[in-house]
Amino acid sequence: MLPLFNNEPYADFTEQEHKAAQQQALQATAGQFNRIYDLFIGGESVKTNRRQVSHNPSQKKQVVGTFSKAGQSEVERAIEAARSAFEKWKKVEPKERAIVLLKAAKILKKRKYQVNAWMIHEAGKSWIEAEADTSEAIDFLEFYAREMVRWSGIEGVTPFPGEYPELAYLPLGVGAVIPPWNFPMAILTGMTSAAIVTGNTVLLKPASDTPAIGYQLVEIFQEAGLPEGVLNFIPGSGSEIGDYIVQHPRIRFISFTGSKEVGMRINQLAAQVSPGQIWLKRVIAEMGGKDTIIVDDEADMEDAAANVIASAFGYQGQKCSACSRVIVLKSMYDPFIQMLEARAKKIKIGPVQDPSNYMGPVINQASEDKILSYIEIGKSEGKLVCGGKKVNDEGYFIEPTIFKDILPGARLDQEEIFGPVLSVIKAEDFQTALKIANKTEYGLTGSVYTKNRYKIELAKREFFVGNLYINRKCTGAMVGAHPFGGFNMSGTDSKAGGMDYLGLFMQAKSVSEKI
Ligand code: NAP
Ligand code: MG
Repeated sequence: MLPLFNNEPYADFTEQEHKAAQQQALQATAGQFNRIYDLFIGGESVKTNRRQVSHNPSQKKQVVGTFSKAGQSEVERAIEAARSAFEKWKKVEPKERAIVLLKAAKILKKRKYQVNAWMIHEAGKSWIEAEADTSEAIDFLEFYAREMVRWSGIEGVTPFPGEYPELAYLPLGVGAVIPPWNFPMAILTGMTSAAIVTGNTVLLKPASDTPAIGYQLVEIFQEAGLPEGVLNFIPGSGSEIGDYIVQHPRIRFISFTGSKEVGMRINQLAAQVSPGQIWLKRVIAEMGGKDTIIVDDEADMEDAAANVIASAFGYQGQKCSACSRVIVLKSMYDPFIQMLEARAKKIKIGPVQDPSNYMGPVINQASEDKILSYIEIGKSEGKLVCGGKKVNDEGYFIEPTIFKDILPGARLDQEEIFGPVLSVIKAEDFQTALKIANKTEYGLTGSVYTKNRYKIELAKREFFVGNLYINRKCTGAMVGAHPFGGFNMSGTDSKAGGMDYLGLFMQAKSVSEKI
């Protein structure tokens, strides 16, 4: 019997004990920057000639790790290892598989500061953002372990006279797990552990910007006693080996989180049946967002401003749930912008190794270029309120940037920027605000600030997003409480951290015997 699920509490870095532990882990991990990492296939380390280097975005010349890079032959080898492991792993009792996740959670709890440190160095997360990410990874392990036990006890059928009907949930087979860099521990762990606990075996291709963090999970699962071949780690370039993995006839499902463009491509390629393939592949794709907070004129304005800022600029706006548009009712428009501006100007930005920096760098050069180009577009589509510039050249630092007077339909109103750029849009009334909010191709997160019960009810009914929050920021979904995933072009409508998620990794077999 397991204790009930509880979200992992965050370490409080204002306490000296936690601060010192994190500081120490940062130094210890920095001592390992010259490490060369292998692939991990069928329980063995595998070296390749081709290398891929991972950098610290706060100090872009600094290498944090060098990785062997998978090509097609390593993908083949990993698929073979996963296929052979599947024959055994699929027969292991759900409860036994769940125990491996619980052990992994325990090890991760012990390694928390170390994993945070890798995230601070490799992904440019501030201390508290890294702590939230690692805690979420622990939550996924704990939650999906319990969920597997629950699923294995579901009856799933009604009685039938003269028969003994049963329904069993079986794993699918060998799956590809392709996570993004922006929640490099949490999302990677969630996707991988859900696939594994349901009895599948996995090829894990981490995002090229954050392989060192992905490697942490490989080590943790090894220490937890996961049998060989169940998890195969194949860092490599998505554009080089992604299509090959996705089209491979032995791949049964693809679990992807990332951009709309790549998600659409995977969905399209996976739909084509390759020679020798005897199933239609399942695609679970979590994609981008253009997330909105509506600020009504009957709201607590200071509270709304604080949480718009947190939603827009936490982790430099690089969350799929980040607030990139705030729609403000006209009577409060100007005073609210002043509140936002005052708060944005106070944000401290710099290398995240220093915990006093609230904002760190964006992930890489391509991302910096893209964000700066959107800032130029913003200057022609609206008025710059604050920010707009690079901070320095050591890392990819961009100021928290706010544009006002962005019109519905403008590119800054429609396109995902994935950086610290917030568009402020004026609305005549609450109904119009909802219409503007809903008018994008995405539907991931949204939030509404109002004290008016009728407006709250209207928003709950009509704001078409997968994750809606009332009088709360639009980021920071908690496993279990806020099953996460969006509508329309934000993905395939799955809900990570929710009670139906594991079903996506299984198929049901109905058996009935005549008595
Ligand atoms: P991305 O560029 O789409 O990359 C995601 C993953 O796909 C990476 O591992 C990438 O590998 C791989 N990839 C690239 N091309 C591929 C191909 N042709 N076939 C198979 N895999 C391929 O996204 P990102 O820049 O890492 O992440 C940011 C995006 O993720 C944003 O759009 C954000 O909104 C979205 N996101 C969504 C959610 C959600 O829950 N809905 C959560 C987090 C992030 P490489 O790194 O080697 O290119
Ligand atoms: Mg990318």
